[in-house]
Amino acid sequence: MADILIIGCGGVGSVVAHKCAQAKRDEGTFGTITLASRTPARCQKVAQSVKERLGVDLATSQVDANDVDALCRLMERTKPLLVLNIALPYQDLTIMEACLRCGVHYLDTANYEPPETAHFEYKWQWAYAERFSKAGLCALLGSGFDPGVTNVFAAYVMKHALDEVHVLDIIDCNAGDHGQPFATNFNPEINIREVTAKGRYWERGEWVETDPLAWSMDYVFPEGIGKKKCFLMYHEELESLVKHLPGIRRARFWMTFSQNYLDHLRMLEDVGMTRIDPVSFQGHEIVPVQFLAKLLPDPASLGPLTRGKTCIGNRMQGLYQGKERTVYIYNVCDHEACYAEVGSQAISYTTGVPAMVGAKMLVEGTWKKPGVFNMEQMDPDPFLADLAKYGLPWTCVDC
Ligand code: NDP
Repeated sequence: MADILIIGCGGVGSVVAHKCAQAKRDEGTFGTITLASRTPARCQKVAQSVKERLGVDLATSQVDANDVDALCRLMERTKPLLVLNIALPYQDLTIMEACLRCGVHYLDTANYEPPETAHFEYKWQWAYAERFSKAGLCALLGSGFDPGVTNVFAAYVMKHALDEVHVLDIIDCNAGDHGQPFATNFNPEINIREVTAKGRYWERGEWVETDPLAWSMDYVFPEGIGKKKCFLMYHEELESLVKHLPGIRRARFWMTFSQNYLDHLRMLEDVGMTRIDPVSFQGHEIVPVQFLAKLLPDPASLGPLTRGKTCIGNRMQGLYQGKERTVYIYNVCDHEACYAEVGSQAISYTTGVPAMVGAKMLVEGTWKKPGVFNMEQMDPDPFLADLAKYGLPWTCVDC
């Protein structure tokens, strides 16, 4: 059984811990599971919930993942086969570096972003490909839902439903309501940086930029969710998918937002509260978006408050056996059902389950190969079978 180390214990880390414990209990997939962040009390609280719900013991530890030496000391002590990076995108490179030094496989759910610039790109992590390959280690990038399952959905459609894809639309709908005036469903700083950035989509071989949230469309979601307004955004999986889906002509990413969320966000932007550059205040330097994040509800606290469903999926149009075909592949997830199972809302759940399944693919050897990989580069079938088994069933229909 493979020992694993989970770094990060927020909304998503908690779900990852519960799901890894479930796979350990039900299939013996993992051996010792260690959960670490800078705040040991948080890890201990999650370990207690795992023990009560699943009867599985987790080890907990303290680490600052910005510090490669500290990470190495922890890895030398716990000797994991794999590290699951469920901290923030700022820690991706230090954790990858430590994994290389200690001979440990790597997995994350979000690509690297330098703290001082609201800009994410795979180039920094893809640059590690040769070193991981030479070390015989696997780094699996973006094993959440989007990125993550959306990449695997694309690979599934290319394997089973289309010979050639022309148009890809990834559509992320959160039809849930937490009743708070303004809150984000995952880390507030990362969420606000992403949403306030310029939009970007792929059109016939080049990127086209739009103003933030300038384009929208109405989409009718299945399973009773109905019509919602979706806004065009740039999202990281587009970068790897346009590289790995040959012949793709257009690729876009859409996300739903309530008018209430958009009104609050605009006001916060107007008064400078979403700025990411330091501001001098009473002799201290503060970064406004970090101060704002401190004031907003912790995403992990939204679990008991959130009602409704999420629906995330890919609409893909292309050719199959010489004829035009459009398919829609998606998952619908219920916030209250997630809370009842693991004590978290569906955004954390839909990210945490695929992180566990990616780790399972890696430690079982199904997806383990040396190098740095995005999810669409692997065989989608075993991943999607386990995804459904561990709480995220999916549907693929012709449109
Ligand atoms: P939270 O803010 O709730 O949790 C972040 C965790 O990281 C905290 O436990 C924090 O603990 C820990 N952390 C932060 N800095 C460090 C550090 N220097 N060293 C060690 N631990 C650290 O975030 P979420 O759980 O909402 O999100 C986690 C990740 O999941 C993010 O990268 C996010 O972008 C990604 N995500 C991916 C999605 C996908 O579908 N692919 C969707 C949603 C989120 P402490 O302060 O105690 O150190």
